[in-house]
Amino acid sequence: MTLLVFFALLLSQLSGCARKPQCPDKQMPYKQTFQAMGTFIVITVYAPPGIAAEKAAQAAFQEIVNVDQLMSGYNPRSELSRINQCAGKSGVAVSPQLSEVLGRAEYFSRLSDGAFDPTIRPLVNLWRSAGRSGNTPDADDLADAQSLVNWQLIQTKTTGNGQGGTVSLLQPRMQLDLGGIAKGYAVDRAIEKLKQLGVTNAIVDAGGDLFALGSHPNGRPWVVGVQDPTREGPVLPDLLHLADMAAATSGDYRRYFEIDGKQFSHIIDPRTGKPVEHIASVTVVAPSATDADALATTLTVLGPEDGMALINSIPVTEAMMIVRQPNGNLVTHRSDGFEELQVKNELN
Ligand code: AMP
Ligand code: MG
Repeated sequence: MTLLVFFALLLSQLSGCARKPQCPDKQMPYKQTFQAMGTFIVITVYAPPGIAAEKAAQAAFQEIVNVDQLMSGYNPRSELSRINQCAGKSGVAVSPQLSEVLGRAEYFSRLSDGAFDPTIRPLVNLWRSAGRSGNTPDADDLADAQSLVNWQLIQTKTTGNGQGGTVSLLQPRMQLDLGGIAKGYAVDRAIEKLKQLGVTNAIVDAGGDLFALGSHPNGRPWVVGVQDPTREGPVLPDLLHLADMAAATSGDYRRYFEIDGKQFSHIIDPRTGKPVEHIASVTVVAPSATDADALATTLTVLGPEDGMALINSIPVTEAMMIVRQPNGNLVTHRSDGFEELQVKNELN
């Protein structure tokens, strides 16, 4: 997991809370780990008396499963797969959820001038099989896959009343891939479900894409660590203070292709058709997990200059990017307001 909630810290704060008279309603933590979307989903719920935390966590997880069933590229019966199967032929009626996430994906494609592209899958598949065979793709195959990647050839017709719509891919063999945004969306859905059930303090963490609902019951923001991209386990000194905010990390250290002993990122630059190099990790903090997830992927493609310029133009959204230098050193870039999120010494 790329973002580690400081459970030890939270638990120590909780035990302190139990002893302190200012603790308002003695909320108790309930934490459960599930598996979906190829990752661990950790749901921590602080439920006020009278709210069934376990049931709330399970209902929230069910929301994540529902999103996966709609948007999985591995399940041939998902809505996303049906759109892919009908590419160049016909439109497919889709759920309001898929319509919503695709709308957001298109928004970030436009905003980033195509650095984020939800039709990236032909290139992802090409590099994945290159990883399996150990051979770099040849130029013709690369050009062919690249010609199929164009978010502007997604046609969406919405019914206009939040009831979904119809999605068509206008060119044969085009393929949608919502891997850069769907996990964040699933987290947002899970948080919505918790809110509906009366939960006010919770964290839903889907393998590094998380939303921190409310604040810690002690009244302070949640404290979240970002994993050091160079070492399994430890977190970076930049702690995030989150209250009703999301954070998402894209990193090249967990999922990658390997060719000739060299590691290639699972994030592809649609402009070159090649995996992004040199970006070790990007963490984005934003008001929704959908946006944080999409932007972390987008910034990985854009790199430090264009990426930070984009983030600095979006309100209430911050980012940290760790770049590998040719000599192996790491350089960290932060957006203008990122420092304010840090609580390096505050907890001492
Ligand atoms: P994340 O871990 O959120 O950065 O998402 C990475 C996943 O997003 C990859 O495994 C692909 O499925 C997908 N992806 C790769 N490159 C892009 C891109 N340029 N734009 C949108 N999605 C991408
Ligand atoms: Mg992402």
